[in-house]
Amino acid sequence: MLNMGGMFSYSDMESLGELCNAISSCKKCDLYFSRKNAVCGFGNVKPKLLIVGEAPGSKEDDMGKPFVGRSGKLLDKALEYAGILKHEIYISNSVRCRPKIGRAPKISEIRKCSGYLSSEISLLKPRIIVPMGNSAIKSVGLILGINLGRISEVQGSILYADGKYLAPQFHPAAILRDPKKLERFKDNFLKVSGFMEDLHVKAPEGLFIDYKVRRI
Ligand code: SF4
Repeated sequence: MLNMGGMFSYSDMESLGELCNAISSCKKCDLYFSRKNAVCGFGNVKPKLLIVGEAPGSKEDDMGKPFVGRSGKLLDKALEYAGILKHEIYISNSVRCRPKIGRAPKISEIRKCSGYLSSEISLLKPRIIVPMGNSAIKSVGLILGINLGRISEVQGSILYADGKYLAPQFHPAAILRDPKKLERFKDNFLKVSGFMEDLHVKAPEGLFIDYKVRRI
């Protein structure tokens, strides 16, 4: 059972469909006022990897789907470069409604929305989670009851907490703002891809040594 740190829980929700219905009608924070569509997670329900972004952008808000705008296209290219198949993963967000004029979500909004991500983690049971950007790392940290630090400090590393591997990564929007980070972004996914493969063939001790996995 995940440490919910006193947050609301959706343990009574037994399916992703129920969860998506709850998200679609949610009014738990003020982001509800600015959204056109709340955006549910999307992807393989037995994912090898759970990717967590920040918040829906304008296109996602219009279409009600995660990562369909410019950030999504960059993410697709990086996944393809790393040989990670899109149909093997599940993509979600820290908050499900678009903040006005594309601002970052507040910690209070991330906290109120984190119960949905917690439920997805419980239902999907991913072995590896890739939080992309500071909002995602805050959300995953709240769920695990751990301060995971800032993304600039932990991106590219592999962490182990509560029986899960975390592979923090830049958010693609940060790469669009600063293309100098692109190679690092792609290489981080390449490392995750290798780790996904090795997870099935190597003993945990070997994995911890080879990938310098840090227990937190
Ligand atoms: S951002 Fe999350 S908590 Fe806030 S209204 Fe949307 S779904 Fe609800």
